[in-house]
Amino acid sequence: MTSEVNREVHLVSRPVGMPTPENFSVVDAPMPTAGAGEVLIRNVWMSVDPYMRGRMYDRKSYAPPFQLNEAMGGGHVGQIMTSDNANFAVGDYVVGFMGGWREYFVSDGMGLEKVDPDLAPLSAYLGTFGMPGFTAYVGLLRIAELKDGETVFVSGAGGAVGTVACQIAKIKGCRVIASAGSDEKLAWLKDECGVDEVINYKKVSDLNEAVRAAAPKGIDVYYENVGGEHLQVAINNMNAFGRIAACGMISEYNATEPAPGPSNMSMIVGKSIKIQGFIQTFHLDMRPEFVADMGKWMSEGKLKWQETVREGVDNAAGAFIGLFSGENTGKMVVRLGPDTVD
Ligand code: NDP
Repeated sequence: MTSEVNREVHLVSRPVGMPTPENFSVVDAPMPTAGAGEVLIRNVWMSVDPYMRGRMYDRKSYAPPFQLNEAMGGGHVGQIMTSDNANFAVGDYVVGFMGGWREYFVSDGMGLEKVDPDLAPLSAYLGTFGMPGFTAYVGLLRIAELKDGETVFVSGAGGAVGTVACQIAKIKGCRVIASAGSDEKLAWLKDECGVDEVINYKKVSDLNEAVRAAAPKGIDVYYENVGGEHLQVAINNMNAFGRIAACGMISEYNATEPAPGPSNMSMIVGKSIKIQGFIQTFHLDMRPEFVADMGKWMSEGKLKWQETVREGVDNAAGAFIGLFSGENTGKMVVRLGPDTVD
């Protein structure tokens, strides 16, 4: 059974600085119908991700800008309601990257992947077993060339990417130092994921000193999610031939003026540090390895995850805004409907 309207979230003005609820509007759009070769998806979950902030600027980037007064796009997990596509049957669950921020979505099947609700809860395909988990995997194992037993510093450690990065590094026998902005997030990382040292960057008076104390022998790999002071401190504390996987710099996404750069960049030369940015979509050749490793680690009980759930499309914009004040522990997801309908 489907509804008469499709409720979707439009960007109605481009945020300046921190996004506000007024930048978004929930709109009753007509229910879409699937044409030849297409499927109609009823979304069960949608994702909000920090990278979407970049798409709210009207500028050229690796992902095109969101258009004003149109539904935004993003990660979603849903169930096929009608199908004229031989690759998908009615009832299948799929994950996609275009059809979020709305309750229903019509697709020609491009970019959709079937997911198995018996292997993991549907929402986990937007987090640990989805794009953020894959980002952690690529960043550590390919970009940072992580070696067993190294010392790894992870910023943004309590979020979707960071929680997986910490756990992969532990699985690889590394000593892991995690930075996040709440004691609850850090307690979970330490108690449940076996992270060795934790730092609440909002509470320490001197982040550099805290990292130095947590890693007296220095850092070999820095998994960068935050930028700003965290990057400066990581460079200070890195060992010779250290590697930095520059995954994201969320502290700068709402900046209205250029953020000051680290003042210690010359150390990159002296310490022979390698720093490389990356976008996960350019490393999709690693997907089969990721799926195999994550399946194995899950069956061995080595992976844990947490989610912060917001209910309904009306709360999607608030969920997104909450990413910038640390409201989420693990992956922030929005439930748009029940797993199954009659
Ligand atoms: P998270 O789930 O980690 O959510 C964002 C978290 O960042 C918040 O919960 C908050 O936690 C922290 N944060 C927010 N503002 C600041 C700040 N000013 N300083 C320090 N911490 C802050 O998001 P994701 O795991 O999805 O993404 C993490 C990073 O990875 C982001 O930078 C994102 O852009 C990037 N990314 C990059 C990809 C790629 O292909 N390169 C793909 C996916 C994500 P806290 O309580 O710790 O403050």
